[in-house]
Amino acid sequence: MKTIIEPFKIKSVEPIKFTTLEEREAILERGFYNLFLIPAEDVLIDLLTDSGTSAMSADQWAGIMRGDESYAGARSFYRFEEKVRALTGFRHIIPTHQGRAAEKILFSIAGGKGKYIPNNSHFDTTRANVEFSGAEAVDLPCDEGKDPDTPADFKGNMDLEGLARFIRNIGRANIPLCMMTVTNNSGGGQPVSMANIKATRELCGRNGIPLFLDACRFAENAYFIKRREPGFAERSVESIAREMFSYADGATMSAKKDALVNMGGFLALNDDALALRARNILIVTEGFPTYGGLAGRDLEAIAQGLDEIVDEHYLEYRIRSVEYLGERLVKAGVPILQPPGGHAISLNARKFLPHIPVDQYPGQALSLELFRVGGIRSAEIGSVMFGRYDRDKKLIPARMELVRLAIPRRVYTQSHIDYVIEAVLEVYREREKLRGVRIVEEAPLLRHFTAKFEKVV
Ligand SMILES: *Cc1c(COP(=O)(O)O)cnc(C)c1O
Repeated sequence: MKTIIEPFKIKSVEPIKFTTLEEREAILERGFYNLFLIPAEDVLIDLLTDSGTSAMSADQWAGIMRGDESYAGARSFYRFEEKVRALTGFRHIIPTHQGRAAEKILFSIAGGKGKYIPNNSHFDTTRANVEFSGAEAVDLPCDEGKDPDTPADFKGNMDLEGLARFIRNIGRANIPLCMMTVTNNSGGGQPVSMANIKATRELCGRNGIPLFLDACRFAENAYFIKRREPGFAERSVESIAREMFSYADGATMSAKKDALVNMGGFLALNDDALALRARNILIVTEGFPTYGGLAGRDLEAIAQGLDEIVDEHYLEYRIRSVEYLGERLVKAGVPILQPPGGHAISLNARKFLPHIPVDQYPGQALSLELFRVGGIRSAEIGSVMFGRYDRDKKLIPARMELVRLAIPRRVYTQSHIDYVIEAVLEVYREREKLRGVRIVEEAPLLRHFTAKFEKVV
């Protein structure tokens, strides 16, 4: 059999709302041409993010009913702890309400002024938490990872020479820990190889620097290792994931990604003294150590989700559906970031709309048009999100102008993906007519969430 099918059948459905072209134009106008400002109900296919948007399984919903809501020592906590410990091998398992809460706790202990945190690429919340502590967040992606057009197997890798140089220059005493993001989200969901994790571990180990994984998409990363890295084809994804964690001293996790739940996260680590301090902060900011920021039912759903995420039929379908979207677009000549990532396809808006200058935000224009034509919501990852101004208020553009189509887990079927392909191709055919946008109102920080735009005519 050649066709890879959805490895589930559908028991409960949620209708999606159809709108006309005229209605969508009015929705865009009411939302000030910012897709964060339009009601989700008006979206036909929502590819804004894969975070917290997964469909839970019947067993996860059953876990919701089984949840033990005792304040201390709940049965659900022990199930969660046992599952996370079996998977990661870490001694201390600390539940948090989401990934950034784990980051906040970790960096309020390890960060601080004069400290530096290297990472293959910081996710935006990770960077924000490092910087909020007063430390500096430094990205060290490998060279292949910087080139959007050339496919390579492990574009998420750490630049090892860069890291060695960085440690020499900064001094190990100023580097409290090294992070590694698997898969590399900011780099388009690109995987990191086992060899690279291992070499990073050895380099950090020689210098006495602990290594922490930002493990949000650990299962997708493990599946890429199985498929692409010599020597792993016969191994189970779970055993590959365990080996990945075995090279680290700890991990932060957003359960909203590869734990298949709508809310949750954890901090896991080996160091007893660090864990004690982390739990002290947890009690003040999140909750008692056996529930963190979560309800007992959430812990049940995470434990169950971590069982389901390493299922290889699921991962084959998951990675294949993203790849399928990418292949079809490439075949029609649409410029995308190559190769497809684990959770998303990124359209290269600079190449898609070369006639729109960067200060008229080609990524924003493209994402708006995808909504206008097809009711599809995507995310601009370009100069609206990362642009800065110089002293003369001139835009310093982002390194790339991307539009990310993030695929929620187990939510859409192949016909939904086919529809997305048709919509992108329709926008591509008419691309020369598209015009840019300008910002009419914006906040000083994280402006993409609230900025208001108008169309350039
Ligand atoms: C989502 C994400 C986070 C933050 O997790 P939240 O649950 O959204 O707080 C951190 N790192 C990476 C790589 C992520 O994708």
